Order: sequence, then structure tokens, then C-alpha cells
Amino acid sequence: MDREAILKKAGLDVLGFCSARPLEKEKAYLLDRQAHFGLCKYEGQRIEERLDPSLHYSPVKSVLVFGINTKTRPIQLKKGQGLLAGISRIPDYHTVLKESGNKLCQLLKLEDQAKLMVDSHPLMERAFAQRAGLGYIGENTALIHPVYGTYLALGLILTEKTFPYDGEVGGTCSSCKLCIKACPGGALKGGGVLDPMSCLSYKTQSLEEGSRQLGPRLYGCDVCQEVCPKNKHVPLTSLDQVLKEGISKEEIQDLSNREFKKKYGHLTGAWRGKKQWMENFKSIEAYWARKSKE
Ligand code: SF4
Ligand code: SF4
Repeated sequence: MDREAILKKAGLDVLGFCSARPLEKEKAYLLDRQAHFGLCKYEGQRIEERLDPSLHYSPVKSVLVFGINTKTRPIQLKKGQGLLAGISRIPDYHTVLKESGNKLCQLLKLEDQAKLMVDSHPLMERAFAQRAGLGYIGENTALIHPVYGTYLALGLILTEKTFPYDGEVGGTCSSCKLCIKACPGGALKGGGVLDPMSCLSYKTQSLEEGSRQLGPRLYGCDVCQEVCPKNKHVPLTSLDQVLKEGISKEEIQDLSNREFKKKYGHLTGAWRGKKQWMENFKSIEAYWARKSKE
């Protein structure tokens, strides 16, 4: 079966194959970031576990990197509403990727010789995606694919089988730097360096004290993707766009946690629960109050 047929049957947009040898140049990058900014709590704290597939599955020879396009239509917010990032306006990509990854294992007859890994693991997906020929890492620290830009959600399969590997492709952001200039958190420092704790996407998932000026954001931040010229011609996702507009505080404040989960649990952006959204609405209300005075 050729790759196009596999993609279609598994409901995927991209698939690449690469060796499972540990990542090398990324070690210095992670150590530097740890020294300057620390690692955020949602990423692996043991750097070797982010680099070496054999610490997660053994014996491992190959890594399969697969992904789906998550680009959604932009929405116009009404006054008072909170904004969920584009990836949250479609069904939870973790569920979609797990289903597609399982189909992929069946199609390639890997079931007993592979480990499927979607999100709840520390391996640096984007670095393996680069090694598997799916794109290059941009200034915004995301994978930039020639068709799907920065909009791919990725999963990995570690397997003891070998495949013909895809070669790493080059690419460059040249002197663009639009994402660095537009980043509302000042998190992009240039040279592909991100301060994770200043990123508003992280802050919308965190209840920690400190500056929480999120603007209208209820979950996630799309600014560095929206301004990126590499995303100009990315097609819309084939997944259902569940949310067509923002969410108001009134819609959630009286819901029990169980009701919240029933209503929004199928969205990626709801994984931190109602408490996180209510906390974020403090910043959203301040944003709309400021806007009304302008
Ligand atoms: S997600 Fe938002 S805050 Fe984070 S790096 Fe991108 S533009 Fe900056
Ligand atoms: S906005 Fe420009 S610098 Fe930033 S990732 Fe896109 S192409 Fe690269």
C-alpha cells in the first residue's frame, strides 16, 4: 500500500519515518532553556527522556511521526466572550490521533511490536518530525510543514521494525521575525528560543500567581500562527469545527463540574476543567472593561 492510501485509510494528513537514535543537537537547546527559563510543568523534566526513544520502548529501531491538520476558520468574538484557540474548536485532537494511530498500527501490522504515543509523553515530537522529513523548526519553535504550516497536531509510534527512512528537509524563516514582534507574551526570544512560562498558551492552562494578562483568551494563543506567512495557504482542517464562536462566562458559571465536562469535555481546551476557565475569565473581564473605555 502506498503512503497516500495509508494516510487516507488512517484519516491522517501526514506521515514520516525516521530512525530512533537519540536526538543530539536538541540536548544543548533544552539544557540552555532549562538554565534560562526552566521547563514548564507540562513537558518532561528529565531531558534524556525527551531525547531517547529507547527509554520509552525497547528494542526500538524506528519512529513513525503522523499528524492531522488543525487549521480552523477564524471567529469573531462578541463583547464579553472568551476565545478558544483554533485547535480547541475541533474535537479533541488527542482522541482523533489515538484512533488514527491505532489504524496506522493495524495497516502496517505493527500491533505487537510498537508503542503509540500521543501527547502524554515527553519525547520532542517536532524534532522527530523534522528528522522524518515533515518540515523544519521555525522561529516560533513550531514545526513548519510545506503544506500545513504550523497547524499539525502530531503523534508518534515507536517500533522495533525498520522502514525506508525519509530524509530530513531543510528550511528557514530567513529574516521574517513576524512572530517575535507579534507575540503578546514576549515569549519568543529570537534564535528559536521560547520562554515557556511567558507564553500565554501556557498561562491559560495554569493557575499560578503572577501576571495573567491573557487578553480575551480562554484557552491557548494563536498569534504566532496567525501572523506566520508560512500559514497563508494552509487549507482548513477536514475535522468538524465544533465551536463557531467564543464562550461567555454566563454559559459556564452555573454548571457543575460534571455538567461542564459533559458540555465541553470533548474539546482540547477543557482539559483543565471549569476552575481554570473561571480563573481565566477574571482576565477576560478586565480585557473587555478596558476595551469598552477605548
Ligand atoms: S502562543 Fe502566543 S504567547 Fe505563546 S509564543 Fe505564540 S504568540 Fe507568543
Ligand atoms: S512568523 Fe516568520 S519568523 Fe515566525 S515562524 Fe513564521 S516564518 Fe518563521
